[in-house]
Amino acid sequence: MTDRDPLADYREKRDFRRTPEPPPAAVQPRGGQVFVVHRHEARQLHYDLRLEHGGVLCSWAVPKGFSYDPAQKHLAVRTEDHPLAYEHFDGRIPKGQYGAGTMTLWDKGHYELKVFPTWEAALAKGELKLVLHGRRLRGEWHLVRTQQGPNTWLLFKTRDGFAGPDRDSVLGIDLGRAPLAPLPDFLEPMRWATPGAPFVDPTWLFEVEFAGRRSLLRKDGPLVTLPGQPAVDPGLAAAAASLRGHRALLDGVLVATDAQGRPDATATARALAGGDLQTLCYYAFDLLHWEDYDLRALPLLDRKAALRALLPAHPRLLFVDHVAGNGPGLLEAIAARGLPAMVGKRGASLYQSGPSDDWRRIAVADAPATYQDRAEPAPERTPTPTAWQQVRPSNLTKVYWPGAGHTKGDLLAYYATVAEWLLPHLRDRPLHLQRFPDGIDGKSFYQRDAGPQAPAWLSTTPIEHDGALVPHLVVGDLPTLLHAINLGSIDLHPWLSRVGHLDQPDYAVLDLDPKEAPFAWVVRLARAAGRLLRGIGLRPLLKTSGKRGMHVFVPLQPGYGYEHSRMFTEAVARCLVRELPELATIERAPERREGKVYLDFLQNRRSQTIVPPYAVRPVAAASVSAPLHWDELEDDGLDPARFTLQTMPTRLQQHGDLFRPALEDGQDLAPAIDALAQLLRGR
Ligand code: MN
Repeated sequence: MTDRDPLADYREKRDFRRTPEPPPAAVQPRGGQVFVVHRHEARQLHYDLRLEHGGVLCSWAVPKGFSYDPAQKHLAVRTEDHPLAYEHFDGRIPKGQYGAGTMTLWDKGHYELKVFPTWEAALAKGELKLVLHGRRLRGEWHLVRTQQGPNTWLLFKTRDGFAGPDRDSVLGIDLGRAPLAPLPDFLEPMRWATPGAPFVDPTWLFEVEFAGRRSLLRKDGPLVTLPGQPAVDPGLAAAAASLRGHRALLDGVLVATDAQGRPDATATARALAGGDLQTLCYYAFDLLHWEDYDLRALPLLDRKAALRALLPAHPRLLFVDHVAGNGPGLLEAIAARGLPAMVGKRGASLYQSGPSDDWRRIAVADAPATYQDRAEPAPERTPTPTAWQQVRPSNLTKVYWPGAGHTKGDLLAYYATVAEWLLPHLRDRPLHLQRFPDGIDGKSFYQRDAGPQAPAWLSTTPIEHDGALVPHLVVGDLPTLLHAINLGSIDLHPWLSRVGHLDQPDYAVLDLDPKEAPFAWVVRLARAAGRLLRGIGLRPLLKTSGKRGMHVFVPLQPGYGYEHSRMFTEAVARCLVRELPELATIERAPERREGKVYLDFLQNRRSQTIVPPYAVRPVAAASVSAPLHWDELEDDGLDPARFTLQTMPTRLQQHGDLFRPALEDGQDLAPAIDALAQLLRGR
C-alpha cells in the first residue's frame, strides 16, 4: 500500500475532463495539519472529513454528520485519499461522474493528533484522537476503527468543554472571529445617535422600527427572561425555548397592538404593567450571544443571518427582516402602512453598547418630500410582522398534520418564510381555494369565490362563472397570501394565465400523475420528457407535484391560447406513450389506465389550476411542490417526500428559485410543434 501512488484510486474514479474536481498532482508532503469537511449532497447526503497527512487528504465519509453529543457515535467510512488541492474545492460534480452532486466546503481549520506520537502508530491501532480547531468543529473527537473491516470507523465527540447535545453549529456563519465568553446577564443596548434622512447605500440595511418596548431576550437553558422587564408569559417562553441552542441573547422589541392592529407603545406599556402579557410579541432584530460565543464582534449581517437560522417559526417570536440598500423604498412602503419610522444600520457594523453612528433613525415625517422622485420600486418583501398584524391569523395552534404535529401556525410561518420566492408565481393569477379547516384529515371544500367576508384590502378580480360574476382572489402580496392560508388553504390553486389575458396561458404543463404506479416510473417518464423537449429546442422546467407526481413546464411566449398549449402537450404525451408504452397512458378513465402513470394534458385549459412551486400539499408528509434541477432525476435517492415545509426554506436559501424561468423564459412553440409533428409522423 505504501509503495503505491496514494492518489491512484482518486485518479481512477474520475474523468478530469468532466469533473471540476482538482486533478491529482505529484504527492508532496508539506507538513501541515489541515482538516476540511465537505458537505456532500450526493446520492445520499453525507459529510466528508479530510485530514492532511503525508501530502494527501485522508478521507472519511460520515453519513450522519457530526454531533457534539458524545453519546452519538456515527459511522465513518474510510474512502480514497484526496489531493491537497481538494481543501479548496467547492462545486457541483456533474451527473454521471463519481460522487455526482454538490460539494460544499463546510468547515476548515487545523487538527492535532493526541496521545499517539505518530499518525502511523495511531492508524495502526485504529484510533485517531483528534483535536479540531475549525469554525464549526472544535474540541476533541475520536475516530475509532471497528471490527467490521478496515474502512469501517466510528466518529464521536469526547466529553470536554465543547461537548453538548445541541452544539452542532447550525448558524451558517463563520464563528471564527467570535470570542468564547459566558452568557451575560444584561448588556447596555446599542442605540441610534442621530436622526437621518433616507438614503440609498448598498452597505446599509433598513429595518422597520416597531413601536413597543426595547428589550433583550435571554435564554439560559430552560430559563427565559426579559432582563429589566416583567416575567415572560408561558407562550412566549415556550417560543423562546424552541429557539435552537441552550444559551442565547437577543435584541429586539416587545410589541402589543392597538385596536387597529398597529404596533403601539402605549398598549405595550399597559400589557407589561399587568395587562394581558399574551398580547405581546417579540420582534427580534439582533443576536448578541449564542451558546459560548460572544457574537457582538461579528458584522451585523452575520448576526442577522444567524438569528434567522435560529428562530423557530412562531407567531409570537418574529424575525425583523430588512431591506438592503434601498432606504427610500422601505420608507415609502412603511409610510403607506401608517408606520412611523425605520432604522438604518451599517451592514458591517459590530454591536456596541450605547449610541452609535452606525445606526440612524429615519422617520416618515422627517423625510423630504422629494425622496419619492428618486425612490426605487418598493421592496417585494414587505416586513413580515406588518402582514401578521394585518391578517390577524386565528387558531394558530390547531394541529393540521396529526402525525407530524405541524400546526396551522407552522403552515402560516412557512408561507411567510417562502413568500419572496412564491409570490412572483402567484401574482395576477386568479386563485381557487381548497379549504381544510380541520387539517389534512378533516373535511375540505373547494371555493372560487373570494367570499363575502373578504376584507376590503384584499385584491380580487371578477370572473364569469356559471352565468354570474364571481370575485376570485388574486394573491399579490404577503397579507393576501396569509389571508388565503388563514382561511384553511394548505396548497394553492392558481390559474395558468393572468388577469388581463385570461385566455393566454404562461406555460404549457404536462402533469405526470402516478396514482398507484411506482415513483421510479414517474422519474423515467420525466427524464424522457426532458430529453424529448430539449431535443426539439425547448428549455423545460421540472418540479415535484408535492405528492408522488411531477410537473413539466414549458414557459410560453405571449400570444398562445390554451388550445395551442393543450394540443402541444397532448402531442408530447403521445410521443412519451409511444416511447414507454409499458409505463404511461393518456387514458382518461382511471379504470382503464392499467396502473400506469397518467399523462394529463387537460389542465391546459381556461379556469383549470396547477399547484405552484413551494405550495405545501395536504398529505401526511407535509411535502412541498419542489422545483428540481434536471440532473437530480439521476439521483437514485430522489424522494419527493424529503421536500417538506421544514426542509424547503433551507433548499431555497441554497438553490434560490429554480422555477424563476417559468416567469421569464417564454419560448416559441411553433418550431417545436413542427418538430413534434415530424416525430409523430416518423416511426
Ligand atoms: Mn463524498
